[in-house]
Amino acid sequence: MVELFNVTASYQKGTDILKDVTLRIDDGEFAFVVGSSGAGKSTLIKLLLKEIDADSGSIIVNEYNLNRLRPKKVPQFRRTIGVVFQDFRLIPNMTVYDNVAFVLRVTNRPNKYIKQRVPYVLDLVGLMDKIKSYPNELSGGEQQRVAIARALANDPKLIIADEPTGNVDPNMSYEIVEMLKNINRCGTTILMVTHEHDMVRYFGGRVINIDDGIIVFDDYVEANSDVQKSKISINNDNSIEFTNAFEVQYDFK
Ligand code: ADP
Repeated sequence: MVELFNVTASYQKGTDILKDVTLRIDDGEFAFVVGSSGAGKSTLIKLLLKEIDADSGSIIVNEYNLNRLRPKKVPQFRRTIGVVFQDFRLIPNMTVYDNVAFVLRVTNRPNKYIKQRVPYVLDLVGLMDKIKSYPNELSGGEQQRVAIARALANDPKLIIADEPTGNVDPNMSYEIVEMLKNINRCGTTILMVTHEHDMVRYFGGRVINIDDGIIVFDDYVEANSDVQKSKISINNDNSIEFTNAFEVQYDFK
């Protein structure tokens, strides 16, 4: 569970980036976080990972009260969260297997567990056939699936995905979100930051819109599967054409 109560945060005194934010995301929810560049989305994520502290207000994530969390306990807390980044952040000279195994090794998991867990999570994202490949041998979509497997490795309660489709082909983007949706159906809470309004409209669900450090919209939006069709067209010669989803503006109200 994620709970922010009257949270204000800044990088410099006198310039509040998040302003009196109150937000609750229950276990098992899937929520999109949208907002224009500079709105405060990354700042929200940094707060949730305890990379920065709030100036005022309280933050509880996965039963850890971040206001009172001692530095010694931070690694233990962070293991309850899987993070997926826009730029994948895979280690280039490690195989797919080792990229996933790495996070289990640094958390001192027994070898026997690692040998079972890595193939299990790679199978969940459909990448068992790439287990020995290196990141540069994979497409953007495949690299992001490895990153999702890595995020799942420690069986987190919460996955924070920060623009996970930003560097992925438009058609693969929907598969990435579909994958996150499936993970969510198995019980993991998911918070996904995106600026792809078309995608949000396609999947629907809870949408939190941050504007200039304030939550201006937090409600459920109906899924509209027609949206994707407007984005992808198949030509007579079977080539596929994409229209730019980023141009489509959507008013969540
Ligand atoms: P978003 O992720 O929605 O694009 P951010 O949370 O990154 O927005 O940024 C919100 C505001 O905070 C912006 O005005 C940005 O310039 C400012 N900001 C972000 N990081 C820092 C930092 N490390 N130091 C000072 N200001 C920052």
